[in-house]
Amino acid sequence: MPPMKRTRHFASDNYSGMCPEAWAAMAEANAGHEVSYGNDVWTQRAADMIREIFETNCEVFFVFNGTSANSLSLASLCQSYHSILCHELAHIETSECGAPEFFSNGSKILLLPGENGKVSAAEVEHAVKRRSDIHYPKPGALSLTQVTEVGTAYTAAELQALTSTAKSLGLRVQMDGARFANAVASLNVSPADITWRAGVDVLCFGGSKNGIALGEAVVFFNHDLAHEFDYRCKQGGQLASKMRFLSAPWLGMLKDGAWLRHARHTNAMAQRLEAGLKTMSGVKISYPVQSNAVFAKMPPAAEAKLHERGWHFYTGVITPEESRLMCSWDTTAEDVDSFIADLKQILG
Ligand SMILES: *Cc1c(COP(=O)(O)O)cnc(C)c1O
Repeated sequence: MPPMKRTRHFASDNYSGMCPEAWAAMAEANAGHEVSYGNDVWTQRAADMIREIFETNCEVFFVFNGTSANSLSLASLCQSYHSILCHELAHIETSECGAPEFFSNGSKILLLPGENGKVSAAEVEHAVKRRSDIHYPKPGALSLTQVTEVGTAYTAAELQALTSTAKSLGLRVQMDGARFANAVASLNVSPADITWRAGVDVLCFGGSKNGIALGEAVVFFNHDLAHEFDYRCKQGGQLASKMRFLSAPWLGMLKDGAWLRHARHTNAMAQRLEAGLKTMSGVKISYPVQSNAVFAKMPPAAEAKLHERGWHFYTGVITPEESRLMCSWDTTAEDVDSFIADLKQILG
């Protein structure tokens, strides 16, 4: 069979384009002149909307991507002699080219094991208490990914337990929320319940994987930690001169709940994919499906044939034999069904 031209894939949720709500807000922000460097009405309104959604007076900064959101927020939580605890699969460890260490002037990342991509309170405590001497990089922060790198979601109760342990040990808590919308949709909770009410000091609120073109919001619930963060952003090359184009799409996403509508849809598409894969012997789901990701082990020959038929997806993101299938805001039920039909045919 010749390769088919497909417009949508399961390779990554950042393969997708901009959702209509973000696109419309961008177009609206493009009408005429506007003040630069974030002193514009769009940025003001988007930050106000984030404060409304989180039901608190947080401080909000818009940056270009997740690596800078994570790195700069962690740098503001740590001194250079501190360490940052995170899961061994964390994006800040595996996929940011050392940026968190670079921007914090050397804070060392310490890795914790944990099932289903999650860190446990016992492992946090162990990492902090195993040494107390001056030769060990003093643990200063805990970084949690919500949803995790394997697509699982920490519940509000799990977060509470983790952050109370962290706080009792003197750690600050940062959350990498590249897929925060998927977590809110999956857990069916208020954004406040899995952030500041659960002890999170700063959230990197992901936009691009949720349906905007680019950009993440750094949301400080702890105001002291936001001190001079604007300078850190500027020095780190993250102060957009035409800031309204980073912030306006957020307004489009947040004002009528589009962000959650899209996240619920992507999660539902992952459920549909999982249900289809489960009907096939020879395919094994690797982790609980709690967001827009499905990790599965399939026969390598079948994967090769799927690629021949034009499907893009990655194998070996987490372990060498697992494939990762990501749903996006624009993934359709037909996309899922035709992928499943192809795999069924291939497996005979
Ligand atoms: C995609 C992603 C990010 C952001 O990555 P950038 O490419 O820097 O925007 C951060 N954390 C996680 C868990 C991600 O999946």
